[in-house]
Amino acid sequence: MSAVLKINLSHLTHNYQYLRSKISKNVHFLAVVKAIAYGSDALQIAKHLEFLGVDYLGVAYAEEGVELRKNGITTPILVLHAQPENYSLIIEHNLEPNLYSLRTIKLFDAECAKLNIYNYPVHIKYNSGLNRLGVSIDTIDAIHSLLNCNRIKLASILSHLASSEDLSETEFTQQQIQRFIHFQKVFLKQLSYTPLIHQCNTSGILNFPEAHFSMVRSGIGLYGFGNDSKYDVNLKPIASLTAKISQIQTLQPGESLGYNRNYIATAKTKSATITIGHADGIDRIYGNGKGYVIINHQKAFILGIVCMDIIIVDISKINCKEGDTVIIFNEEYPANSLAEAVGTISYELITGIGPRIKRIISDK
Ligand SMILES: *Cc1c(COP(=O)(O)O)cnc(C)c1O
Repeated sequence: MSAVLKINLSHLTHNYQYLRSKISKNVHFLAVVKAIAYGSDALQIAKHLEFLGVDYLGVAYAEEGVELRKNGITTPILVLHAQPENYSLIIEHNLEPNLYSLRTIKLFDAECAKLNIYNYPVHIKYNSGLNRLGVSIDTIDAIHSLLNCNRIKLASILSHLASSEDLSETEFTQQQIQRFIHFQKVFLKQLSYTPLIHQCNTSGILNFPEAHFSMVRSGIGLYGFGNDSKYDVNLKPIASLTAKISQIQTLQPGESLGYNRNYIATAKTKSATITIGHADGIDRIYGNGKGYVIINHQKAFILGIVCMDIIIVDISKINCKEGDTVIIFNEEYPANSLAEAVGTISYELITGIGPRIKRIISDK
Protein backbone atom coordinates (compact mmCIF):
# COMPACT_ATOMS: atom_id res chain seq x y z
CA MET A 1 0.00 0.00 0.00
CA SER A 2 1.64 3.21 -1.06
CA ALA A 3 -1.04 5.58 0.19
CA VAL A 4 0.06 7.28 3.39
CA LEU A 5 -1.60 9.51 5.98
CA LYS A 6 1.00 11.77 7.53
CA ILE A 7 0.07 13.32 10.84
CA ASN A 8 1.82 16.45 12.00
CA LEU A 9 1.77 16.82 15.78
CA SER A 10 3.08 20.38 15.68
CA HIS A 11 -0.13 21.34 13.88
CA LEU A 12 -2.11 19.68 16.66
CA THR A 13 -0.20 21.79 19.17
CA HIS A 14 -0.93 24.91 17.11
CA ASN A 15 -4.66 24.14 16.88
CA TYR A 16 -4.90 23.38 20.59
CA GLN A 17 -3.18 26.64 21.46
CA TYR A 18 -5.43 28.59 19.10
CA LEU A 19 -8.59 27.06 20.58
CA ARG A 20 -7.30 27.60 24.12
CA SER A 21 -6.69 31.26 23.27
CA LYS A 22 -10.43 31.55 22.55
CA ILE A 23 -11.46 30.45 26.06
CA SER A 24 -10.76 31.84 29.55
CA LYS A 25 -7.84 30.41 31.51
CA ASN A 26 -10.09 28.73 34.07
CA VAL A 27 -12.24 26.96 31.46
CA HIS A 28 -11.42 23.26 31.14
CA PHE A 29 -10.71 21.65 27.77
CA LEU A 30 -12.03 18.28 26.65
CA ALA A 31 -10.34 16.96 23.51
CA VAL A 32 -12.52 14.63 21.46
CA VAL A 33 -10.54 11.64 20.15
CA LYS A 34 -13.43 9.40 19.07
CA ALA A 35 -13.41 7.54 15.77
CA ILE A 36 -9.62 6.99 15.75
CA ALA A 37 -9.11 10.68 16.57
CA TYR A 38 -11.17 11.66 13.53
CA GLY A 39 -9.52 9.10 11.29
CA SER A 40 -5.92 9.80 12.31
CA ASP A 41 -4.36 7.76 15.16
CA ALA A 42 -6.20 7.65 18.48
CA LEU A 43 -3.30 6.67 20.70
CA GLN A 44 -0.64 9.01 19.27
CA ILE A 45 -3.09 11.92 19.27
CA ALA A 46 -4.28 11.15 22.82
CA LYS A 47 -0.67 10.92 24.03
CA HIS A 48 0.16 14.28 22.51
CA LEU A 49 -2.99 15.89 23.91
CA GLU A 50 -2.16 14.47 27.33
CA PHE A 51 1.32 15.99 26.99
CA LEU A 52 -0.29 19.32 26.03
CA GLY A 53 -2.30 19.15 29.25
CA VAL A 54 -5.92 18.72 28.20
CA ASP A 55 -8.26 18.20 31.15
CA TYR A 56 -10.38 15.49 29.58
CA LEU A 57 -10.44 13.20 26.58
CA GLY A 58 -13.73 12.28 24.93
CA VAL A 59 -14.61 9.08 23.07
CA ALA A 60 -17.94 7.90 21.71
CA TYR A 61 -17.91 4.27 22.85
CA ALA A 62 -16.36 2.41 25.78
CA GLU A 63 -14.03 0.24 23.68
CA GLU A 64 -12.30 3.36 22.37
CA GLY A 65 -11.54 4.43 25.94
CA VAL A 66 -10.39 0.94 26.95
CA GLU A 67 -7.84 0.98 24.11
CA LEU A 68 -6.42 4.27 25.42
CA ARG A 69 -6.26 3.04 29.02
CA LYS A 70 -4.54 -0.19 27.95
CA ASN A 71 -1.87 1.96 26.31
CA GLY A 72 -1.15 4.10 29.31
CA ILE A 73 -3.42 7.14 28.90
CA THR A 74 -4.30 8.42 32.39
CA THR A 75 -6.26 11.62 31.59
CA PRO A 76 -9.96 11.40 32.58
CA ILE A 77 -11.97 9.95 29.68
CA LEU A 78 -15.63 10.79 29.08
CA VAL A 79 -17.56 8.16 27.10
CA LEU A 80 -20.09 10.26 25.19
CA HIS A 81 -22.41 7.49 24.03
CA ALA A 82 -21.88 4.94 26.80
CA GLN A 83 -23.96 1.77 26.44
CA PRO A 84 -25.34 -0.09 29.49
CA GLU A 85 -23.86 -3.42 28.37
CA ASN A 86 -20.43 -1.81 28.77
CA TYR A 87 -20.89 -0.29 32.23
CA SER A 88 -18.74 -2.93 33.96
CA LEU A 89 -16.03 -2.41 31.32
CA ILE A 90 -16.26 1.33 31.90
CA ILE A 91 -15.77 0.93 35.65
CA GLU A 92 -12.99 -1.62 35.22
CA HIS A 93 -11.01 0.84 33.08
CA ASN A 94 -11.78 3.95 35.05
CA LEU A 95 -13.78 5.61 32.26
CA GLU A 96 -16.57 8.10 32.94
CA PRO A 97 -19.95 7.50 31.32
CA ASN A 98 -22.22 10.13 29.87
CA LEU A 99 -25.70 9.23 31.20
CA TYR A 100 -28.40 10.62 28.97
CA SER A 101 -31.70 9.27 30.27
CA LEU A 102 -33.30 8.23 33.53
CA ARG A 103 -32.96 4.64 32.28
CA THR A 104 -29.18 4.89 31.88
CA ILE A 105 -28.73 6.74 35.18
CA LYS A 106 -30.67 3.99 37.01
CA LEU A 107 -28.72 1.23 35.27
CA PHE A 108 -25.36 2.80 36.07
CA ASP A 109 -26.39 3.42 39.67
CA ALA A 110 -27.40 -0.26 39.90
CA GLU A 111 -24.05 -1.36 38.47
CA CYS A 112 -22.24 0.69 41.14
CA ALA A 113 -24.47 -0.78 43.85
CA LYS A 114 -23.71 -4.30 42.57
CA LEU A 115 -19.98 -3.62 42.81
CA ASN A 116 -20.42 -1.73 46.09
CA ILE A 117 -18.87 1.41 44.64
CA TYR A 118 -19.51 4.91 46.00
CA ASN A 119 -19.04 8.33 44.33
CA TYR A 120 -18.25 7.04 40.83
CA PRO A 121 -17.79 10.06 38.51
CA VAL A 122 -20.51 10.34 35.87
CA HIS A 123 -21.78 12.99 33.49
CA ILE A 124 -25.41 13.78 32.86
CA LYS A 125 -26.56 15.14 29.55
CA TYR A 126 -29.45 17.53 29.15
CA ASN A 127 -31.35 17.65 25.86
CA SER A 128 -31.48 21.35 24.99
CA GLY A 129 -32.91 20.83 21.50
CA LEU A 130 -30.72 18.54 19.40
CA ASN A 131 -33.20 15.78 20.31
CA ARG A 132 -30.56 13.08 20.00
CA LEU A 133 -29.54 12.27 23.58
CA GLY A 134 -30.34 13.82 26.94
CA VAL A 135 -32.70 14.08 29.87
CA SER A 136 -35.51 16.60 30.09
CA ILE A 137 -36.04 19.05 32.91
CA ASP A 138 -38.93 17.06 34.42
CA THR A 139 -36.57 14.23 35.41
CA ILE A 140 -34.55 16.40 37.80
CA ASP A 141 -36.22 15.21 41.01
CA ALA A 142 -35.81 11.57 40.06
CA ILE A 143 -32.15 12.17 39.21
CA HIS A 144 -31.55 13.86 42.56
CA SER A 145 -33.04 10.99 44.51
CA LEU A 146 -30.59 8.66 42.74
CA LEU A 147 -27.67 11.03 43.35
CA ASN A 148 -28.59 11.01 47.05
CA CYS A 149 -27.64 7.32 47.24
CA ASN A 150 -24.04 8.50 46.65
CA ARG A 151 -23.24 5.61 44.34
CA ILE A 152 -22.62 8.08 41.53
CA LYS A 153 -21.12 11.54 41.77
CA LEU A 154 -21.67 14.17 39.14
CA ALA A 155 -18.42 15.17 37.38
CA SER A 156 -20.30 17.36 34.90
CA ILE A 157 -23.57 18.28 33.31
CA LEU A 158 -23.49 18.80 29.59
CA SER A 159 -25.58 19.53 26.57
CA HIS A 160 -24.88 19.66 22.83
CA LEU A 161 -25.64 22.33 20.23
CA ALA A 162 -27.45 21.48 17.01
CA SER A 163 -26.21 24.24 14.70
CA SER A 164 -23.24 25.96 16.30
CA GLU A 165 -21.51 26.33 12.91
CA ASP A 166 -24.59 27.75 11.17
CA LEU A 167 -25.03 31.43 11.98
CA SER A 168 -28.43 31.54 10.23
CA GLU A 169 -29.60 29.40 13.18
CA THR A 170 -28.16 31.72 15.85
CA GLU A 171 -31.58 32.35 17.38
CA PHE A 172 -32.10 28.61 17.90
CA THR A 173 -28.60 28.19 19.34
CA GLN A 174 -29.26 31.02 21.79
CA GLN A 175 -32.47 29.29 22.78
CA GLN A 176 -30.51 26.09 23.45
CA ILE A 177 -28.05 28.04 25.60
CA GLN A 178 -30.88 29.68 27.58
CA ARG A 179 -32.61 26.32 28.11
CA PHE A 180 -29.35 24.83 29.39
CA ILE A 181 -28.81 27.76 31.76
CA HIS A 182 -32.31 27.25 33.14
CA PHE A 183 -31.66 23.52 33.57
CA GLN A 184 -28.42 24.29 35.43
CA LYS A 185 -30.23 26.68 37.76
CA VAL A 186 -32.91 24.18 38.71
CA PHE A 187 -30.54 21.24 38.84
CA LEU A 188 -27.70 22.79 40.82
CA LYS A 189 -30.01 24.22 43.50
CA GLN A 190 -30.34 20.73 44.99
CA LEU A 191 -26.65 19.83 44.69
CA SER A 192 -24.07 20.50 47.43
CA TYR A 193 -21.12 20.72 45.01
CA THR A 194 -20.52 22.27 41.58
CA PRO A 195 -19.78 19.91 38.70
CA LEU A 196 -18.23 21.02 35.41
CA ILE A 197 -20.66 22.47 32.89
CA HIS A 198 -20.24 22.23 29.11
CA GLN A 199 -22.20 22.71 25.92
CA CYS A 200 -19.81 23.89 23.18
CA ASN A 201 -18.15 21.87 20.44
CA THR A 202 -15.54 23.51 18.17
CA SER A 203 -17.95 25.85 16.41
CA GLY A 204 -19.61 26.63 19.74
CA ILE A 205 -16.22 27.67 21.12
CA LEU A 206 -15.63 29.96 18.14
CA ASN A 207 -19.12 31.39 17.67
CA PHE A 208 -20.74 31.40 21.12
CA PRO A 209 -18.25 32.54 23.80
CA GLU A 210 -21.17 33.19 26.16
CA ALA A 211 -21.70 29.41 26.33
CA HIS A 212 -18.20 28.29 27.31
CA PHE A 213 -19.33 27.69 30.94
CA SER A 214 -16.57 25.74 32.77
CA MET A 215 -15.52 23.32 30.02
CA VAL A 216 -15.58 23.07 26.21
CA ARG A 217 -15.30 20.04 23.94
CA SER A 218 -13.35 20.20 20.72
CA GLY A 219 -12.78 17.63 18.02
CA ILE A 220 -12.70 18.97 14.46
CA GLY A 221 -10.86 22.17 15.46
CA LEU A 222 -7.98 20.19 16.92
CA TYR A 223 -7.67 18.36 13.62
CA GLY A 224 -7.52 21.66 11.77
CA PHE A 225 -10.99 22.59 10.56
CA GLY A 226 -13.12 25.50 11.80
CA ASN A 227 -16.30 24.88 9.79
CA ASP A 228 -15.95 28.44 8.47
CA SER A 229 -13.29 29.95 6.24
CA LYS A 230 -12.77 32.80 8.71
CA TYR A 231 -11.58 30.28 11.32
CA ASP A 232 -9.91 27.85 8.91
CA VAL A 233 -7.15 30.41 8.26
CA ASN A 234 -6.07 30.13 11.91
CA LEU A 235 -6.09 26.34 12.02
CA LYS A 236 -3.77 23.82 10.37
CA PRO A 237 -5.04 20.45 9.13
CA ILE A 238 -2.93 17.88 10.96
CA ALA A 239 -3.22 15.14 8.34
CA SER A 240 -2.05 14.90 4.76
CA LEU A 241 -3.07 11.99 2.58
CA THR A 242 -1.01 11.00 -0.44
CA ALA A 243 -1.01 8.13 -2.94
CA LYS A 244 1.01 7.13 -6.00
CA ILE A 245 0.55 6.97 -9.77
CA SER A 246 1.00 3.33 -10.65
CA GLN A 247 0.37 3.55 -14.41
CA ILE A 248 -0.36 6.12 -17.11
CA GLN A 249 -2.49 5.26 -20.14
CA THR A 250 -3.80 7.06 -23.20
CA LEU A 251 -7.38 6.63 -24.41
CA GLN A 252 -8.48 7.32 -27.96
CA PRO A 253 -11.87 8.98 -28.57
CA GLY A 254 -14.64 6.40 -28.10
CA GLU A 255 -12.62 4.17 -25.76
CA SER A 256 -14.04 3.50 -22.32
CA LEU A 257 -12.38 3.30 -18.93
CA GLY A 258 -13.14 1.51 -15.68
CA TYR A 259 -15.93 -0.76 -14.46
CA ASN A 260 -19.25 -0.62 -16.28
CA ARG A 261 -17.58 1.56 -18.92
CA ASN A 262 -18.78 4.61 -17.01
CA TYR A 263 -16.34 6.96 -18.70
CA ILE A 264 -16.07 7.16 -22.46
CA ALA A 265 -13.39 9.43 -23.92
CA THR A 266 -14.71 12.11 -26.26
CA ALA A 267 -11.19 13.24 -27.12
CA LYS A 268 -7.74 11.77 -26.70
CA THR A 269 -7.37 11.44 -22.91
CA LYS A 270 -4.39 10.70 -20.70
CA SER A 271 -5.25 8.88 -17.49
CA ALA A 272 -3.34 8.01 -14.33
CA THR A 273 -4.17 5.03 -12.14
CA ILE A 274 -3.85 5.90 -8.43
CA THR A 275 -3.25 3.66 -5.39
CA ILE A 276 -6.35 4.45 -3.33
CA GLY A 277 -10.01 3.42 -3.53
CA HIS A 278 -13.33 3.18 -1.76
CA ALA A 279 -11.94 0.68 0.76
CA ASP A 280 -9.70 3.52 1.92
CA GLY A 281 -12.45 6.11 2.33
CA ILE A 282 -12.58 7.59 -1.16
CA ASP A 283 -16.24 6.70 -1.55
CA ARG A 284 -17.95 6.08 -4.88
CA ILE A 285 -19.59 9.50 -4.62
CA TYR A 286 -16.20 11.03 -5.53
CA GLY A 287 -16.28 9.28 -8.90
CA ASN A 288 -17.41 10.46 -12.32
CA GLY A 289 -15.68 13.81 -12.32
CA LYS A 290 -16.81 15.04 -8.89
CA GLY A 291 -13.73 14.31 -6.78
CA TYR A 292 -10.09 14.94 -7.60
CA VAL A 293 -6.50 14.50 -6.52
CA ILE A 294 -3.77 17.11 -6.77
CA ILE A 295 -0.94 16.38 -9.16
CA ASN A 296 1.71 18.98 -9.83
CA HIS A 297 -0.45 21.73 -8.22
CA GLN A 298 -3.43 20.94 -10.46
CA LYS A 299 -6.72 19.17 -9.88
CA ALA A 300 -6.88 15.82 -11.67
CA PHE A 301 -10.55 14.79 -11.63
CA ILE A 302 -11.64 11.19 -11.13
CA LEU A 303 -12.70 9.44 -14.34
CA GLY A 304 -15.47 6.85 -14.11
CA ILE A 305 -16.23 4.71 -11.11
CA VAL A 306 -14.17 4.56 -7.91
CA CYS A 307 -12.87 1.00 -7.46
CA MET A 308 -12.13 -0.72 -4.16
CA ASP A 309 -8.37 -0.14 -4.32
CA ILE A 310 -7.96 2.24 -7.23
CA ILE A 311 -9.13 5.49 -8.76
CA ILE A 312 -8.29 6.69 -12.25
CA VAL A 313 -7.84 10.42 -12.86
CA ASP A 314 -7.61 12.70 -15.87
CA ILE A 315 -4.09 13.99 -16.45
CA SER A 316 -4.57 15.13 -20.05
CA LYS A 317 -3.28 18.60 -19.17
CA ILE A 318 -0.97 17.69 -16.30
CA ASN A 319 2.72 16.97 -16.47
CA CYS A 320 3.51 13.86 -14.40
CA LYS A 321 4.97 10.37 -14.59
CA GLU A 322 4.45 6.88 -13.23
CA GLY A 323 5.65 6.59 -9.62
CA ASP A 324 4.84 10.23 -8.81
CA THR A 325 3.16 11.06 -5.51
CA VAL A 326 -0.28 12.67 -5.65
CA ILE A 327 -2.06 14.61 -2.92
CA ILE A 328 -5.59 13.71 -1.83
CA PHE A 329 -5.63 16.41 0.85
CA ASN A 330 -3.13 18.31 2.97
CA GLU A 331 -2.66 21.73 4.55
CA GLU A 332 -2.65 23.54 1.19
CA TYR A 333 -5.48 21.49 -0.34
CA PRO A 334 -7.69 20.89 2.71
CA ALA A 335 -10.02 17.93 3.14
CA ASN A 336 -13.06 20.17 3.56
CA SER A 337 -12.65 21.49 -0.03
CA LEU A 338 -12.58 17.98 -1.46
CA ALA A 339 -15.49 16.91 0.77
CA GLU A 340 -17.54 19.94 -0.23
CA ALA A 341 -16.96 19.15 -3.93
CA VAL A 342 -19.20 16.10 -3.45
CA GLY A 343 -21.64 17.69 -1.01
CA THR A 344 -20.27 16.33 2.24
CA ILE A 345 -18.18 17.71 5.11
CA SER A 346 -14.60 17.37 6.36
CA TYR A 347 -15.78 15.19 9.28
CA GLU A 348 -17.03 12.45 6.95
CA LEU A 349 -14.01 12.41 4.64
CA ILE A 350 -11.34 12.34 7.36
CA THR A 351 -13.06 9.84 9.67
CA GLY A 352 -13.58 7.51 6.72
CA ILE A 353 -9.89 7.01 5.92
CA GLY A 354 -9.52 3.24 6.07
CA PRO A 355 -7.32 1.17 8.37
CA ARG A 356 -5.00 -0.17 5.64
CA ILE A 357 -3.63 3.31 5.00
CA LYS A 358 -0.40 3.65 6.91
CA ARG A 359 -0.27 6.44 9.50
CA ILE A 360 3.06 8.20 9.87
CA ILE A 361 3.42 10.46 12.89
CA SER A 362 5.84 13.35 12.74
CA ASP A 363 6.39 16.46 14.80
CA LYS A 364 6.77 18.77 11.85
C1 LIG B 1 -18.18 14.61 18.44
C2 LIG B 1 -18.69 15.50 19.54
C3 LIG B 1 -18.06 16.72 19.84
C4 LIG B 1 -16.96 17.30 18.99
O1 LIG B 1 -17.53 18.13 18.01
P1 LIG B 1 -16.62 18.97 16.99
O2 LIG B 1 -17.60 19.65 16.12
O3 LIG B 1 -15.80 17.96 16.25
O4 LIG B 1 -15.78 19.88 17.80
C5 LIG B 1 -18.50 17.42 20.94
N1 LIG B 1 -19.53 16.96 21.69
C6 LIG B 1 -20.18 15.81 21.42
C7 LIG B 1 -21.30 15.39 22.28
C8 LIG B 1 -19.79 15.05 20.33
O5 LIG B 1 -20.46 13.92 20.04
